[in-house]
Amino acid sequence: MNIEELIRPELAAMKGYAAIEPVEILEQRIGRRIIKLDGNENPYGCSPKVYQSLANYPYYHIYPDPEQRMLRQALEEYTGLSRDYIVCGNGSDELIDLILRLFLQPGDEVINSPPTFGMYPVSTSVCGGKIVDVPRDENFAVDMAAIKRALNEKIKVIFIASPNNPTGNVIPEREVIELVGTGRIVVVDEAYFEFSNMTVAKLVLEHPNLIVLRTFSKWAGLAGLRIGYGIFPVEIAEYLMKIKQPYNINAAAQVAVLASLSDVNNLRDSIAKIVAERGRLFTKLGELGWLKPYPSQANFILGSLNRHSWSSAPSRRVEQSDKESPAKQTWRQLQERGIFVRYYDSPGLENCLRISVGTPENTDVLIDALKEVRDG
Ligand SMILES: *Cc1c(COP(=O)(O)O)cnc(C)c1O
Repeated sequence: MNIEELIRPELAAMKGYAAIEPVEILEQRIGRRIIKLDGNENPYGCSPKVYQSLANYPYYHIYPDPEQRMLRQALEEYTGLSRDYIVCGNGSDELIDLILRLFLQPGDEVINSPPTFGMYPVSTSVCGGKIVDVPRDENFAVDMAAIKRALNEKIKVIFIASPNNPTGNVIPEREVIELVGTGRIVVVDEAYFEFSNMTVAKLVLEHPNLIVLRTFSKWAGLAGLRIGYGIFPVEIAEYLMKIKQPYNINAAAQVAVLASLSDVNNLRDSIAKIVAERGRLFTKLGELGWLKPYPSQANFILGSLNRHSWSSAPSRRVEQSDKESPAKQTWRQLQERGIFVRYYDSPGLENCLRISVGTPENTDVLIDALKEVRDG
């Protein structure tokens, strides 16, 4: 029998999410310790209290709380917003999926502003929707006029990451309010909030169609335990609680988040180190002279190797043909030295690298390697 004939055609044709590899696999592959700057993970790891709490937790044999009561209570304190607005997910990735499941009927449309996070199109397809791409402008600002032109009655949801991954810039609050004014569900994905300190979370109280997503993966160093949360209008939160899998947050993730939230001051020290290092990395990348770093409010920096983007000299298109682009070549040569960054060649991101902010030592090793691979 032919399984493909049974599969939903849009999923048979769909491109999957380009995920990164875990550290053990990479180290096995290249046979030594690596410097992992490709996943925007926290180089300082999670709070030491997480290990302690995980070791001491006595109820792994019991199902976790479907109502996420302890988590939502702790998040009430952390966010300053009532627990009624908060729903946790198995990573904010799960919340992206749940939101789309809640709002999309087959054939409904979702506005995406690329270059941006790759899960929005994947989850949209999986949920039977169609993506309408409205590209950002040359400075990676959201193209508000084009979004308004793209609106039609099939459009249900608009996704905006702020700070945006992989470009690092934020959307101004007044533009969020403008988008909310379109009457569509507006999802502002604040996965990097703790590095930018800019949020529209309070606006959720005034707008029944605004959603803010957050995660513990980046600032709290819990990417491996998969937990995020959203701040939702109460009505939407109630529907999500109804449609989610009852035990979507596993006991270990719950324990880890409670430990992290009891150790926020310590985690803030790591955030401050990362933010300081982001500034140093930005300067050092710029000093190379052949890579244009874009200012970032997150824990990564996007760099372009396109001549025209960093030099005011007449633009010379990078020879690409069947040769590797300079960015891809640099990415590969860094890998050979045990340094993993993310490489892009998609529309709007031709010839670009995204580098997660690591420790000062990571920066020094990276910059030396970059000088070696491109300056000889
Ligand atoms: C990393 C990232 C996420 C994923 O967060 P998880 O909680 O690990 O699923 C969501 N949105 C953006 C923009 C991200 O960069």
